[in-house]
Amino acid sequence: MVEIKIDIEKCTGCGTCVDTCPVGIYGLDNDKAAITGNIEECVVCRACESSCPVGAIEVVG
Ligand code: SF4
Ligand code: SF4
Repeated sequence: MVEIKIDIEKCTGCGTCVDTCPVGIYGLDNDKAAITGNIEECVVCRACESSCPVGAIEVVG
């Protein structure tokens, strides 16, 4: 199963991952990225990983 790691220390809360994920996995919680959707729906496109401007997201799987 896919695992998504978000480095909250790096995250700037820019919202790019929220806008990029085709299945709406992400939201912003206290101005930082958070997993709010059902991770089971992740299609492992890695768009979030490649679009995060500070490299805070790692998609494992
Ligand atoms: S794209 Fe990266 S920096 Fe921007 S909110 Fe998402 S995890 Fe944080
Ligand atoms: S890999 Fe694709 S589907 Fe999965 S969380 Fe990232 S953008 Fe969304």
